Amino acid sequence: MKQRVTLTFSPGNVHTPITYRLAKDFNIAANIIRAQVAPNQIGKLVLELSGDMDELEAAIEWMKSCNIDVSLVSQEILINEDSCVDCGLCTGVCPTEALTLDRSTFQLQFLPFRCVVCEQCIPTCPVQAISTSF
Ligand code: SF4
Ligand code: SF4
Repeated sequence: MKQRVTLTFSPGNVHTPITYRLAKDFNIAANIIRAQVAPNQIGKLVLELSGDMDELEAAIEWMKSCNIDVSLVSQEILINEDSCVDCGLCTGVCPTEALTLDRSTFQLQFLPFRCVVCEQCIPTCPVQAISTSF
């Protein structure tokens, strides 16, 4: 089973070796989608967790017990086709090729099943055509 989560660390727990503990204690593989963690500052990690369902639940409870704020990623990326000018800038930062330009039409193509909601595309769009569902 896979679950995307956003973790928010306080300055007091930003050094928690989270991916190591997830692998060692819960047999969970953690793929880092996005990281903004600096020593002694609030940090954020977007992870894709893969593992047994019971272990995933136990791991999420363990992270919460470490005072890490855990939110399950369920939002989606939305593309406003009326605003999009097919410039392709967003395709350059998309790590999963969820955003590509069609080679024949030069129009933006979005494949939601590839999107991991890392949100890296949002600030690249010059016309603010990309948003999240909440
Ligand atoms: S949020 Fe944007 S950049 Fe990230 S995977 Fe989805 S489409 Fe690509
Ligand atoms: S950056 Fe914005 S305008 Fe350009 S292709 Fe992507 S969504 Fe469309």
